[in-house]
Amino acid sequence: MRRGAMTIEREGSHAMCIICKQGETQPKTATVTLERGTTTVAIKGVPADVCENCGEYCLSEEMTDRVLAMSEEVVAHGAEIEVLRFAA
Ligand SMILES: [Zn+2]
Repeated sequence: MRRGAMTIEREGSHAMCIICKQGETQPKTATVTLERGTTTVAIKGVPADVCENCGEYCLSEEMTDRVLAMSEEVVAHGAEIEVLRFAA
């Protein structure tokens, strides 16, 4: 697991959407849903770049790590569905 190597590449908030390549992404929050085996985890309020055009979100590496860590905890508890709120 890589830790402490936080990379911030973005200058300003003018990132082009990698999904549709049409819209620009804006810093907002998204609900991230993950499936790990039989467990479904939904995490609300995750800081993400959301595309103005297609609505797709893109998580930074740091947020991806944190979201995955949260989902691992749910899997460890054996829950089938869990809705969490992202704690900044
Ligand atoms: Zn898009």
